[in-house]
Amino acid sequence: MATENVSDEEALPPLPQITEETRPFWDSCKEGVLRLQRCSDCSEFRFPFSVACPNCLSMSFRWEPVSGRGSIFSFVTFQRLYHKAFASLLPYMVAVVELSEGPRLVSRLAAVKETDSVKCGAPVKVRFEQLSHGLVLPLFELVGEQG
Ligand SMILES: [Zn+2]
Repeated sequence: MATENVSDEEALPPLPQITEETRPFWDSCKEGVLRLQRCSDCSEFRFPFSVACPNCLSMSFRWEPVSGRGSIFSFVTFQRLYHKAFASLLPYMVAVVELSEGPRLVSRLAAVKETDSVKCGAPVKVRFEQLSHGLVLPLFELVGEQG
């Protein structure tokens, strides 16, 4: 019986590089909560991680939960396989999601039934995907359209 020889590296999706600065974000995902940096001085949320607030340049911040809700700012549908780890997902969609708190995140859209139904501005909410190697990724799914 022929078996395909896939190395571990090929089977794993590209994973985020977790640093001491970004660890609170990833640990929070494991708890099923999306947390972002929030400036202690001007209260602005920000993403990705930065040492200073892009709004007021303050260096002080705390990690705070956000709603996990937002809308699709932009998106793309992958019809072609660029990495073996994503073979079972084709076609899959990657979106720039604008959170209701303001920051934009790039993530995969999960549970999309009809790729043609996805539109910019469509409401989405976060959902968490547990990977086999202990990492939890924040993905987004469409919120049921109304009216
Ligand atoms: Zn600030």
